[in-house]
Amino acid sequence: MYSNICLFCPSANVVFGANSLFGRYKSSRKREHRNLKDSRTLTCCSSVQYHQRIHCQLLSVKSWLDRNPSFIDSLESGTWIKLICGASYQDLPLIRNLSFLFTLAGVDCIDCAADGAVIHSVKQGVTDALSYANRLCISLRRPLIMISVNDDEDPHFRKASFDTSSCPPNCSKPCERVCPASAIMLQSDEAGFLVPFHQGVIQNKCYGCGRCVPVCPVQNIETTSLTSCHFSVVDNLLKSEPIDAIEIHSRAESIQHFQRLWDSIEPIVQTSLSLVSISFPDGGKHLEEFLRSVDRMIVKERAKYQIIWQTDGRPMSGDIGRGTTLATVKLAKKVLHFGLRGYIQCAGGANNYTVSVLDELNLRARAGPYHKHSAVSGVAFGSFVRRKLIEMFQGTSLDYSGNVENFPCFEQIWDFVFNLTYFHSFESIVKPIKRPSTEGQIDMRTNNEFSHANWFVIMTGVDSIGFQFTTIHKLGSTKHWFQQKQTNTVNKSGLRNVLCLSKALKELQLPRRVQLVACDVDGTILNSWNEVPAANIEAIKKVMNSGIPFVLATGKARKGALNSVLEIKSDLSRHGMGVFLQGLFVTSKDGKICHEMVLDTEVALKVCELGRELGISLVGYERDRIVCETRNEETDKVIPYHEPTPESIGPWKEALFNQKTKLNKMMFMAPPLQIDQVRPYIAKVLGKCCHITQAVPGMLEVLPFGASKGEGLRRLLLSLNIDPSEVVAIGDGENDVEMFHYVVHSVAVANASPAVKAAAKHVTKRTNNNAAVAEALETLILNNPYLNSEQGRKTQTVKSTS
Ligand code: SF4
Ligand code: SF4
Repeated sequence: MYSNICLFCPSANVVFGANSLFGRYKSSRKREHRNLKDSRTLTCCSSVQYHQRIHCQLLSVKSWLDRNPSFIDSLESGTWIKLICGASYQDLPLIRNLSFLFTLAGVDCIDCAADGAVIHSVKQGVTDALSYANRLCISLRRPLIMISVNDDEDPHFRKASFDTSSCPPNCSKPCERVCPASAIMLQSDEAGFLVPFHQGVIQNKCYGCGRCVPVCPVQNIETTSLTSCHFSVVDNLLKSEPIDAIEIHSRAESIQHFQRLWDSIEPIVQTSLSLVSISFPDGGKHLEEFLRSVDRMIVKERAKYQIIWQTDGRPMSGDIGRGTTLATVKLAKKVLHFGLRGYIQCAGGANNYTVSVLDELNLRARAGPYHKHSAVSGVAFGSFVRRKLIEMFQGTSLDYSGNVENFPCFEQIWDFVFNLTYFHSFESIVKPIKRPSTEGQIDMRTNNEFSHANWFVIMTGVDSIGFQFTTIHKLGSTKHWFQQKQTNTVNKSGLRNVLCLSKALKELQLPRRVQLVACDVDGTILNSWNEVPAANIEAIKKVMNSGIPFVLATGKARKGALNSVLEIKSDLSRHGMGVFLQGLFVTSKDGKICHEMVLDTEVALKVCELGRELGISLVGYERDRIVCETRNEETDKVIPYHEPTPESIGPWKEALFNQKTKLNKMMFMAPPLQIDQVRPYIAKVLGKCCHITQAVPGMLEVLPFGASKGEGLRRLLLSLNIDPSEVVAIGDGENDVEMFHYVVHSVAVANASPAVKAAAKHVTKRTNNNAAVAEALETLILNNPYLNSEQGRKTQTVKSTS
């Protein structure tokens, strides 16, 4: 018999020759172990050092949890973390594995759908994690289990669905690509028709983010709201699966809806629960009034439950990127001024940047009575961690329905979660949050925590790209201090560390690196008189001179696009890159074609027939040419846009079959009012075989499926090996939105429609008539301190050589 058994081995097959838990294998037993058929066990057990590492990591988690024995301590010290499984998410294996991993990582609470099977999976994950730790003689704190309910229709409580038989064949399936939960996995048969599959959407994986809805070219996707949860549901649920906390999602619009729900569940909350969370988006100017009414309703003197106000800045978006953090932090900042009773916690857009941003803005609560209830107490992570985990599981081609601790890749997955929640330097969730925050702790009693040579400065009152430093004090000595305003240079003499504790939100949104700028032409670079404003020319030239390619991304043909911007034509022709014809014709370095799409001849003929039926003129684009049956007043409307002059080529049928004309796209040309009237009919007839879009009034475009400026830009970046996070895209039209979704730094000019502005990360103050492109380039590139690495570094940390 072997006395020392590896506590991690699921089959207790590994033993150690030394007394130490993490000793060496007995050589004979090691050989035996290698012979095991179950290679997963072998992999799991083959790294003793790895087990040792897990043990140390769990000890770190425990030591932190011991400093915060209860969830109230976490809230008080600003280190509260909640895992959000999703208010309508029901992927049970993933929920169990998420609960397992994040219980080990020491989260305070796990929030899930009000569904018995889901709660059971969460509990299973928690129990398994605690016993896993117990086998290592480490007892971790059990997280609270919270369910989510809604007082009215709410995006968190809905599911998408569609009928695959209504999908056009050869649809490029953008819905599948945008779904962050892998809830849409479509297959096509040999004829290109989609195989019917789970209402199109795998229902238990859909959490209602709604991203699939706007990308469907034929508006085939619907969402269904789930009914809200009331006393009987909660009561029945609690009888079968006791829980600790409840979260009420409200759109912060109607206090009556909230009151109705609260009245029905209050008895159960009073008797059984220890925490109530109110989740709300930014309800505009009525938000304060709404929250104060809720505060009066739910805060009771002798209540046993605590209250959390969850700021749902940009719901279910944390996986999108850094920008979403700002929405939740901004809302938290707003709500802090309301002075509500209870704790404030960020969600809805929270991700690995949130804690850093809170710390930089000095908004996070810290242990000690002076911060109580006047700062943000914690963060909740949902779609960000779900998506990461799904990607990791899929990256290993695993069916992740098993227990994660038995996966061969458990080592990597656990490392990811632990790093995410404990050690991961600047971008960590918990390193800043699970270590007491020291930066900005302006309390002389804590001096001994810091080196006497450290300086701590705080930046105040900044809401622009300029920097303004005000020294608070120097710890350990008052001899050296400095004060500099409106400057981004810091005098380094005598300093060891200068920490910039707070940064303006705008500044945090700036790109750290830019490798390419893609810009729309009409309504963006060009003003309303089809001229390029002088300031735009100057800014574009400066950007190009700094080595960043400026590329046109337009619905125009190449010739037309270049002729529109004659002043910079020679600079653009030098690199030869561009996204033309709505992404149908893309040229890379030296004008080499890197991507091209053409309309199927059958489809082009269908368009011609429809044009004839409606009595509307058509033009066709063939790379650098524009062709038409016969020129007329309507076809010539492209000329003022600097497009090539249309060529009459005779009957379409003849041209398409005998002359083998391959058209990239076609356009219906008619007065704007007429186009608006016939557009629904055209979409109905052609919607299943091509993509309909419009950039200019009176010109309705017909494109092959899968074409968009976003797709064209993607192809260009692939050919150049450039990451979309390092690209700035500027535009004003609905055809720019897909490009905005693809890059991180999207800019809508002030004359863009509200929908386009909503899709962009930045919006300029100036319109196209007032050189909006120059404003965007100056803000994001020319005056961006982070693009000058040395200067950027100075604004964050200055290390003295002395
Ligand atoms: S994109 Fe969002 S709403 Fe659509 S299926 Fe996926 S999770 Fe559901
Ligand atoms: S038609 Fe719409 S729902 Fe169907 S595959 Fe294409 S994008 Fe998805």
